[in-house]
Order: sequence, then C-alpha cells, then structure tokens
Amino acid sequence: MKHLAKIYALFFISIGIAIGYLYISLTHTEDLLRTNINHLFISQAKEFASNIQHHLHQKIPQNLYTTIKNNPQLKTELERDISLLTTENFKYIYLLYKDKNNNYRYLLDGSEGEEKGELDEKLNVDKKVWNEVYETQMPKVFLQHKLENLWITYLEPVIYQNKTQAIIAIDFATTLPKEIQHATQPVEHIFIYIFIAIFIMLGILLYQTLLNFKSKRDSITDPLTQTYNRNYLRDLLQKIDISKYQIAMLDIDHFKVVNDTYGHKVGDFILSDVAAIIKKMIRSDDILIRFGGEEFLLFIHRESSKEMLATQIAQRIRRTIEQKTFTYDNNTLKITISMGITCSPQHFKTISDAIKHADEFLYIAKREGRNQVVSDTNIQTLSKKQLDTLSIDEIKDAIEENRLLCHYQAIFCTQTQKVLKYEALVRVINKDGSLIYPNQFLPSIVHTTLYNQMTKTVLEIVFAKIKKHKVAISVNLNFSDIINEAVFKLIIEELEKNKDIAPWLSIELLEYEVLEARDSFVNNIKIIQSYGVKISIDDFGAGFANYNVFQILKIDTIKIDGSLIKNIDTSETSYKIVKSIALLTHELGIETVAEFVHSLEVYKVVKELGITKVQGFYFAKPQENLLNGDKTP
Ligand code: GH3
Ligand code: MG
Ligand code: MG
Repeated sequence: MKHLAKIYALFFISIGIAIGYLYISLTHTEDLLRTNINHLFISQAKEFASNIQHHLHQKIPQNLYTTIKNNPQLKTELERDISLLTTENFKYIYLLYKDKNNNYRYLLDGSEGEEKGELDEKLNVDKKVWNEVYETQMPKVFLQHKLENLWITYLEPVIYQNKTQAIIAIDFATTLPKEIQHATQPVEHIFIYIFIAIFIMLGILLYQTLLNFKSKRDSITDPLTQTYNRNYLRDLLQKIDISKYQIAMLDIDHFKVVNDTYGHKVGDFILSDVAAIIKKMIRSDDILIRFGGEEFLLFIHRESSKEMLATQIAQRIRRTIEQKTFTYDNNTLKITISMGITCSPQHFKTISDAIKHADEFLYIAKREGRNQVVSDTNIQTLSKKQLDTLSIDEIKDAIEENRLLCHYQAIFCTQTQKVLKYEALVRVINKDGSLIYPNQFLPSIVHTTLYNQMTKTVLEIVFAKIKKHKVAISVNLNFSDIINEAVFKLIIEELEKNKDIAPWLSIELLEYEVLEARDSFVNNIKIIQSYGVKISIDDFGAGFANYNVFQILKIDTIKIDGSLIKNIDTSETSYKIVKSIALLTHELGIETVAEFVHSLEVYKVVKELGITKVQGFYFAKPQENLLNGDKTP
C-alpha cells in the first residue's frame, strides 16, 4: 500500500512537471510571437518615417509650418503621399507640431473623411511622452492595449536646423495578439484543469497516506497510556537486535487494591501517569510497551543508557515513583513498583525466553517484599532460600520425568481421635534426591500453564491413592485449575469411570478465588460437586472472612487459617474470631477444621470451642505414607 501510494505520487508529480513545462513553453512562444510582431512593426514604421522625412526635406527646405500653412496645394499633395502609406494596420499616420502653449496641433494627416485632423486642430496626446521626443530629438515607441487590440505608436521628430519642428506619429493596430490568445487559450485551460486535477489527486493521496499512518499508529499504541502495545511487541520481536538491549519487566504493586479502594478511574489515571513518568525518564532509543494490565515491558538500549546499568535506570524509575504523590480528584495516593531485569538477553535462545526470565525476576521482586528491582546482577545478594528456587525449566523437567511426589497430612477427629482424611501436599524430588517444597517452586509457575500440568499429575497420584486405599483425600486446586479444560476433563473422566471414589475426594479452594469467581468457575465446581465431591475453603480468615462465599457455593468444610489458630491459646482476639467463625459454621451446618494445631494448649482451646476436626504438627506432619487408619496422636 505504501509503495503503491509512492508510485501514484511519482506518476502524478511527473505528469505535473511535464504539463508545467508545456505550459511555460506555450506562454513563452506567445511572448516571442508578440515581440516579433513589435519588431516587425517598428522596423516598418521606421522605414515609413524615414520616407516621410526625406519627402518633407525635399519639398520644404525650411520653415515647415509656415510653408505648409501658406501652401494648401502642397499640404494636400503631402497628405496624399502620406495616405498612400496607410493600410489596415497602419491606419493613422500624421504630423503634429507644438504651439506656444505647449499644445499639440495637426500639421499633416494621412487619414481621410471625418477622421481627418485639420491644420491647427488640437489633439490631446500624452504630453509627457511627446515632449520627451521633442526635447531629446530621439524617436520613441510606446505600446498600449486598447480594447483587446494592440496599439503601438512610433514617434519620430522632424528636425530643421537642429530644432524640432514637428513629430511624425505612426499608429499600428493589430488583432493578431488577440487571435493568438484565442488560439492558445483552450490549450492553456486544459493545462490548468490538468494541474488542478493533479493537485486534487495528490491531496487525496496525502490524506489517504495520513489516514493509513494514523490507523497504523493506533493499532500499535495502547490508548490509555499512549505507550506501545502487544501488537507492536509482536512486530518488534521479528526485527529487534536484542544484543543491543537490556529487558526490564515492571509491575505496579498491589494495583488491585488501588482499583478496589479508589475505583477504576483512579486506577486508569495512575496507569497513564506511571507510563508518562517512565517515558520522561527513558531515552528515544528505549522502548516502552504496555505488556498487559499494569505490567510494562521496557527495552533499554545499551548505547543510549551510556553504560549505565539497566538496574540503575530501573532503580531511578522505582525511586521516582515511590517518592511521587499521585493526586486525582480529591484522592492522594502513593504507589510503588517492582521490576525484574534481564541484563544479557542475548544469552537466551529466544527473546520470549529472555522476557520470561525478566518476568521471573519480577516475581522474585514481588515475593521479596515488592518495591524493588531484581536482576541477574543482584540475584546473588538475595536470600539463600531464593537461590534454592527451581527454575521453570527445572520444574518442567521434574513433571516430565515423574519426579513429583505427594505427602499426606492427616486430619483428625477430636472426638474419636481417628484420622478422618488427608490433605495431599505436592513435593518435587530434586535430581540429587532431595525434596523441594512448594514455596520453592509454586510461586514461579503459579501464573503459567505448567501449574495446571502439575495439578494434573497431583490429581492422578491422588486418584490412584484413593482407589488403592479407599481413604478421603483433599487436594488444593486454584482458580486456574478449575477453569482449565485439561484439569477439569481429567477430574470428570475419573469420576465417570469410578463413581465410587467421588465421596473420598475433596477440593480445597482459597476464599478470595471463590469471591472473585466467574460463571465458568462456579459451573465447573457445581458439576464436580454433583458427583459427590466435597468442597473446602482453605485458609478461611486469612483474607476477608467474607461470608458471601457461602452464598456463591455450597461449602462442605472450612479450614480456619493457621494464623488464627496458632496462638489461639494466648491471643484473645484470635480466640474471639475463631469462636465466632465456629458458631457461624455450626449454624450453617458446615464442617470446620482447625489448621496449625501445633501444641496441646492450642488443641485444648480448639476442642473447647467445639471444633471437631484438627490438622497440625501436634497430630501429624505431612509424610509420604498414610497413617495406619486410626492412629491416635
Ligand atoms: P502485585 O503487587 O502482585 O502486582 O498485585 P496487583 O494487585 O498489582 O496485581 P494483580 O495482577 O493481582 O492485579 C492487577 C490488577 O490490575 C487487576 C486488574 O483489574 C487491574 N487492571 C488491569 N488493567 C487495568 C486497566 O486498564 N485499568 C485499571 N484501572 N485496572 C486495570
Ligand atoms: Mg501488580
Ligand atoms: Mg500484575
């Protein structure tokens, strides 16, 4: 399209130049013709004038005026001679003399009939020109356009004894220029029309090109932040020389809270303001892209960064945003951002891998407390725990190589002291045989489909366990698992095949995920429940303790969060909260489990509150093998 527009533009401009050239040539030829006509006349007029001079001087050796005045015969003779020279074009040939009052009067006139000027008859002429000829004694030509016709007047002084006695005037009139003009005018008009047409065409082309440019720009710009969008990123990935850049992934901390507290409008304002701040702090060679939601991708050009490390630039941006107070309507708020940086993206197989790497570092920055920058250069300074984290590739390998394992932590009945069921907890077996715990691998994959793959494996292990031992086991599934087609299909197929296992299975969901649930999530849960699978709310009380969850889904069990249970024997507040939760669930007929029962003291309080199910180290740690049924603590 762009090339086509260029070709059209070139074509029209070439035609324009050619027509312009023809137009100029035509007007030039016209001028040339006019000048030639003038020359022709002037030389003719000069010849006539010299004949008249010669004739006069022959017939009248001196006293021109008095001789003519006193000799009408001679006058008539002379005028007849002059009239012989007149033609259609040379209509008027006459002689005027100047009287004492500086008026010009007829001396001789070559015309006949009514038009003929009588001797001494005054004629109004342009005195300035005539006087000039009188005084300088030099001939003069002057042009005048009378009624579309060209008039040229030739004046020549008649000199006797060095004195100007009269002036010969020869008028030449022609319609030739008019005729030339008539002949050339249509062609000139055509040229002008073509010019206008070309002008309009070029205008349309320019407008079209501008429109194209604008729509192209719109398609690669995020309307809210005026930064590039993912369309641009897709094109960029094809052509960018990644060795020239460092990649930073940037995310606003707790942005959801901003939206929830102040509303989406304020959220939008913060987003565009943050983008504007970053744009101001980077150089023209750097590229800022809105990667999605409140996440930005920044390509920092090595040369433009003037050897400054990407981390330094990132820190500067982080600090600026941290120090800024955002004001919108009457709200003032402070925000922070976290960043993950890949300093050497060229070492990755693909740019997408390098971006993913920056994203992993961003994740670490979040986990390490937010409002910080993590890059390959400062990762070493992070805690040891962090270094033990598995990379995405390592987790992938573990899943593919069947190096996943479930540990089971028993849940006891306080009345019978028997094991009621188990919670399955996933572990990765490292290549060296050591065990890796969820906090070292779940965070890095929780937002990826790898997480769902891992859930599938866990479910397969759990289903096998239930089938083999006929024990109740609960598994932790998150929102993405439930709506993941493969995970959901696996559960349904398993339940269809083995209808009797459904009552043994329960699914633990997090409270806030139920609260934010979409229809597909609720529908899938309801389908699973229809087989007889039980639903638990995990970590209840850690977040909102929002009773609305009981309206959204039919809940079988809630597990009161460990943070409330662990010091229930010493904290009055914890005690009161748990008491009220226990009362409520009792009213609703929902089973309650106390997690984190780590001591006899805690167990006693929990039991006193009427909670009948407990889980915690005081009873049993998670372990590979199931307990022998009713093992008491
Ligand atoms: P974290 O510190 O872990 O990044 O937490 P967070 O709350 O910032 O992150 P999370 O990804 O949970 O939430 C991002 C929120 O950003 C959720 C979404 O509603 C909001 N969001 C995404 N796009 C827009 C937008 O264009 N405008 C507004 N106002 N909010 C947006
Ligand atoms: Mg965020
Ligand atoms: Mg986010």
